[in-house]
Amino acid sequence: MSDTNERIPRDFYQRDPEEQQAFLENTWCNKCQQVDLGMQDPIEYEFMGRIFIEGKCNVCGEPSITEVVEDEEGTD
Ligand SMILES: [Zn+2]
Repeated sequence: MSDTNERIPRDFYQRDPEEQQAFLENTWCNKCQQVDLGMQDPIEYEFMGRIFIEGKCNVCGEPSITEVVEDEEGTD
């Protein structure tokens, strides 16, 4: 029963449609080594206290993972 290494599922589709679209377009693919190729089948989850959106690269189909940087923390 560890809560440190588990993915906590979140609902990507709860986000604004515009925001969803932005996440689907603004991607980085490790395999293609290119930005903004786009992804499909997005899954959002929390891991180690951070939020990620994982989908499949539109070009190669490999997992494309985007970390969501929420703007709610104060700046240091
Ligand atoms: Zn790719």
